[in-house]
Amino acid sequence: MSFTPPPADCLKCERLCAFRKENKKKYPSYHNAPVPSFGDLNAEILIVGLAPGLNGANQTGRPFTNDYAGDILYQALKENNLAKGVYKKIKNDGYELINTRITNAVRCVPPQNKPTTDEEKTCRTFLKEEIAAMPHLKVILCLGTVSHKNVLQALGLKQSYAKFSHGAVHELPYHIKLVDSYHTSRYNINTGVLSYQMFDDVIKKIKRLL
Ligand code: URA
Repeated sequence: MSFTPPPADCLKCERLCAFRKENKKKYPSYHNAPVPSFGDLNAEILIVGLAPGLNGANQTGRPFTNDYAGDILYQALKENNLAKGVYKKIKNDGYELINTRITNAVRCVPPQNKPTTDEEKTCRTFLKEEIAAMPHLKVILCLGTVSHKNVLQALGLKQSYAKFSHGAVHELPYHIKLVDSYHTSRYNINTGVLSYQMFDDVIKKIKRLL
């Protein structure tokens, strides 16, 4: 199955389009468009975040790049040999993912980092098609509850199928495993909800599942 990402001028969500327009005026040098996924469709691991950060992925055009959440994520991937190169918080830094792809439940930056349920639903068509276009997919790592919820919905599963729990491994149809982690957001790190060690443990667990 092939996957067509949203076009740069995707018009599906009125509020997100209006926000994009505003940001284009305020920050003309930014990416200001749906942020394309990072990594190979042939990867065995898919990491699903929430949505691009205004001055992070929405600026750089690569998921989690220049977002605080990316500092934790990209360090842990590299330390576990799921990435190589030096992460320099810019798109063309030469940092490369190994056997891993990264995307977001919602691909455009939402105001206050909070997509609406309708925006999640609209953008979910892309998540659904992307999952279907990964022929070797074995593990989906959901960063946070919004990601978890949208991945289940993208696969046509009820929320009761799997409850979000940090570190949990859920068996999904098609021989895919869903792994949960608290999001690597600044808020979660600063409040002690998630530590680097806890996140590193999740990445190590995923490697054992492959
Ligand atoms: N940046 C992203 O691309 N996704 C997130 O979930 C958070 C920051």
